[in-house]
Amino acid sequence: EDESPKPHFVLVPFMAQGHTIPMIDMAHLLAKQGAMVTFITTPANATRIESTIDKARELNLPIHFVPLKLDCAKVGLPEGCENVDKVLGKEQVKSLTDAYSMLHKPLVSYLQAQSNLPSSIISDLCQPWTGDVARELGIPRFMFNGFCAFSSLCRYIIHQEKVFKNVADDNELIILPGFPHCIEISKARSPGNFNSPGFEQFSEKILEEERRADGVVTNSFYELEPLYHEAYQKKIGKKVWSVGPMFLRNTEMSAIAIRGDKATVDQKHCLQWLESMKPGSVLYVSFGSMARTVFSQLKEIALGLEASKRPFLWVIKSDDKVSDTEKLLSEGFEERIRDRGFIIRGWSQQAMILSHPSLGGFMTHCGWNSTIEAVSNGVPMITWPHCAEQFLNEKLIVDILRIGVPVGVQNITSRTMEAHEISIVKRDHIEKAVLKLMGEDKDAKERRMRATELKQKARQAIDGGSSYSNIQQLIEYVTTRK
Ligand code: UDP
Repeated sequence: EDESPKPHFVLVPFMAQGHTIPMIDMAHLLAKQGAMVTFITTPANATRIESTIDKARELNLPIHFVPLKLDCAKVGLPEGCENVDKVLGKEQVKSLTDAYSMLHKPLVSYLQAQSNLPSSIISDLCQPWTGDVARELGIPRFMFNGFCAFSSLCRYIIHQEKVFKNVADDNELIILPGFPHCIEISKARSPGNFNSPGFEQFSEKILEEERRADGVVTNSFYELEPLYHEAYQKKIGKKVWSVGPMFLRNTEMSAIAIRGDKATVDQKHCLQWLESMKPGSVLYVSFGSMARTVFSQLKEIALGLEASKRPFLWVIKSDDKVSDTEKLLSEGFEERIRDRGFIIRGWSQQAMILSHPSLGGFMTHCGWNSTIEAVSNGVPMITWPHCAEQFLNEKLIVDILRIGVPVGVQNITSRTMEAHEISIVKRDHIEKAVLKLMGEDKDAKERRMRATELKQKARQAIDGGSSYSNIQQLIEYVTTRK
């Protein structure tokens, strides 16, 4: 009976796996709840998410993937350098964001050529130029903030108050003004490439568009962090729609969700191995999509894991000569851990692995997606932050939610995307953290209990609870808005 067109959302992700994957989940979430979705990507990125596109088609979801050509040459980037994981240094990250902002005109033209204007744009915080696009078309823009409210609030205060303006020492601790409680952070452990060219203007632009946005959408859920959710909302003076953990709606559709690079391991083989392990016994070790582990660190991890005598599933993304890594693994290591170790070189199906009953712990770099995936599966964590807002997430996991054990990262020498600029964590620290997390003492048991409680809350939130109603309200908001 309802003749009105479906609400139509245009999603503009930032092109880094950790930003695009939750946007893909969001596309599924919206489509499942009755909306239409146009997902903006670029030719090279579209190729990478081909299986996601096929899956959406197979499930008959109203999601259209639209690749807009990115002019890499114009900003001095090599052809096809369309994703953060393809760029080489901080300067190139700046060029990439410049290239993206040049999509303004093509996006407006594309949307204007459609028979109906979309109801709204939901775009990544790193795509602030989309605010102008929304205003030009007269539609709302929601800022997609694929992080938690806790780190979003910290980030907002850091940049708004310019708390590091006169701070020369990267490791000097600063108390965040206006935070709900006392919290000390250093430049080195804060989100933002403070020392790189153009960063200040870029973060100013993000702040400006955060203030002008019609609302903020996050991949967290209210019950996880009510205090910070309220405080962030109050700080930016607008609604924060927490609609996570979004991947739960995507994974329920197909046992193995298609949401990122293709796995470099045979699914069945990996599952069989997990099946063969005792419930709650396996430690999963992985540092997300961007971090590359240098050889000297890789070696410490290998020996630390071996010494812990616990079963582990380790995803290796090495930066060094592959031959070095292979030499290390073949020098008897793989043989020695054969009965209790499983190694994936490249890309794992993380969401599937974390949901397996054999999982008992996760050694993580604390990227928000990894964190929320662990929380949703009741998996406690060993925290090993590398960069960006990961140090803040560590605080949330360890000090506030109390479901993690820090591995103890020391001496951050610079703000960086590259793991080798943080100091090497020694094997005995790694072993200690593993034994502590996977142990049977009171602390370990309580940590596990808290993680299980959060798992239930996460599932309730998306399954008819706060996140479910937030996404419904968001759809309603754009449909009823005149
Ligand atoms: N991921 C995966 N397999 C891998 C590495 C990463 O499936 O081998 C997924 C992971 O499940 C998560 C995302 O990639 O959804 C990584 O995002 P996160 O925010 O944790 O870290 P980032 O990659 O942004 O550092």
